[in-house]
Amino acid sequence: MGLRHRPRPDPDELLITGALSLGLRLGPEQVAAFRAYREEIARWSARMSLTALRDPEEIVRAGFLDSLGCLPLIPREARRALDVGSGAGFPAIPLKLLRPELAFTLVEASRKKASFLQHAVRHLRLGEVRVVQRRAEALADDPAERGAYDLALARAVAPPPEQACLVRPFLGAGGLFLLQAGPGPLGPDALDWLAGRGFELARELVLPAALGRPGRRVLALRRVEPRGPGECFT
Ligand code: SAM
Repeated sequence: MGLRHRPRPDPDELLITGALSLGLRLGPEQVAAFRAYREEIARWSARMSLTALRDPEEIVRAGFLDSLGCLPLIPREARRALDVGSGAGFPAIPLKLLRPELAFTLVEASRKKASFLQHAVRHLRLGEVRVVQRRAEALADDPAERGAYDLALARAVAPPPEQACLVRPFLGAGGLFLLQAGPGPLGPDALDWLAGRGFELARELVLPAALGRPGRRVLALRRVEPRGPGECFT
């Protein structure tokens, strides 16, 4: 019996239907912007190690749609946003394409990835996006950066507790850290541990199974006064 090949979905269609499952209706200009972004990721990936996401379907599912899963949890009034360890631009660039009023800072330790991010920002003509090639821990020493953000993200940069510690210095009181997590538990007593470091769970969203990553969820953690003298690694 011959192997049956699943027909490859058209990446634009996959993006449109996946976004609809999140309640987002993309217009033709937005779809074109995502296509241009995808093509630049593929072009740069051919000559450097930019992202583990290889084919167009993976880029759309695990890159674009997984990033857009944060969108329903971003408050309307959020303006200043930080993405630590942005890599090829996830989740910041997909979010910026749909919420252009967010002023993003992308902090990326790798020089080559930061060059890609600069290129993508120019290519997609994104306003109010700053790319900083530094480690987040070093940027946090700048008093102008401390407490300066309403929103922080750090997808796949470190285990969840370390992510929370990395973004903590940047968030003002009431600011949100969107923790993108897999289906498993965060770890025993994780929410207590986070409460000790000044984060309380505000909301949680399980991403639709249609996005192809069952059980994947986003936790909105609000920056509050720490319950106790919880130490961080940073
Ligand atoms: N967030 C992207 C994503 O989800 O596709 C990239 C994830 S990649 C696994 C981790 C990225 O974080 C790498 O590009 C790495 O250079 C960067 N990184 C790791 N530690 C960092 C730090 N302390 N400050 C800034 N960037 C960091």
